[in-house]
Amino acid sequence: MLTVKLPQYTIGENILMELGSIATKYGKRVLIVGGKQALAITKATIEKSLKEKGISMIDCLWYGGECSYKNIEIICEQIKANDVDLIIGVGGGKALDTAKASAAKMEIPVITVPTIASTCAATTSLSIIYTDQGDYETIYLYEETPPAHIFISIDILAEAPIKYLWAGIGDTISKYYEVDIASRGARLSHSEAMGKKLSVLCAEPLISYGAKALEDNQQAIVSFELQEVVLNIIITTGIVSMLVGENYVSACAHGLFYGLTILEEIEKYHLHGEVVAYGVLVLLMLDEQHKEVEGLMSFYRKVELPTSLKDMNIENNKEILDGVLDKAVSTEDHQKMPYEVSKDMFYQAIQKVEILNK
Ligand SMILES: [Zn+2]
Repeated sequence: MLTVKLPQYTIGENILMELGSIATKYGKRVLIVGGKQALAITKATIEKSLKEKGISMIDCLWYGGECSYKNIEIICEQIKANDVDLIIGVGGGKALDTAKASAAKMEIPVITVPTIASTCAATTSLSIIYTDQGDYETIYLYEETPPAHIFISIDILAEAPIKYLWAGIGDTISKYYEVDIASRGARLSHSEAMGKKLSVLCAEPLISYGAKALEDNQQAIVSFELQEVVLNIIITTGIVSMLVGENYVSACAHGLFYGLTILEEIEKYHLHGEVVAYGVLVLLMLDEQHKEVEGLMSFYRKVELPTSLKDMNIENNKEILDGVLDKAVSTEDHQKMPYEVSKDMFYQAIQKVEILNK
């Protein structure tokens, strides 16, 4: 038996006061869990909108700074102690992941209210778990209980710092190319095939509207372009990930990202989506899609995503890259490639991308 559960979503401008009318379908005793900054901007309006619908806001908690088992447990204790029947998660990826994981554990619904558009965390039925110190630990999957509803008040995202949308664009573009390559030649199930078709929207609209969306974000303007880009980062990518499943959800652009994280420069000063965007160029070069690499590069130049090692302050040095590629080829993402990619092939692809920068 197969059941595919997908969340509903709402998007609009200045709609936070409508959250109560959505929440009332799912519960009457609400716990809000979010990031500090996100709660500071939204708490008063959310509380008012819940009150209007006769919903009690039991408490409003900071998620704890990391989506760790300890922080999830603290929230679960609150849910138990106060008979909470709905969680509203507010903020970025880690805050939403913490709220979703707590809701999944306690088997109650969760509404996500993303306040930045850097990932698809608001949509997916998984949480990336970190240690309390912030090191990656594992992925917690709960396919049976995806978020009930994603609530996007686009004005909040228009006012968010531009770096999140910028990195979100890079990470989202990878979804199309990685799914396309990882699933090549495979006999796909119905939902995998739906996900693959849908993944086209992770790239095309972002390349068409990305530059304008970033400009509008810079000026805090809500526009058609910003809205399309935000929806594809948050909604499309999340649904694609859930439909294509583990086998095809990533490939060696993400593998290269994890390899590059061994360098302090990357770990400290560069965002996930930014580095993954560069990885897509290398992936396409490996796959000998030269025209696609050049097309994507001209988009990257327009929006200042990295097209070379130098753009990320990495030296093009064989020894340094050797360590990076050791890690890259050992990742699960790398194993999803439909053909063998050796370290040397990877290295050569990086060099070919470098040459295109000259
Ligand atoms: Zn990613």
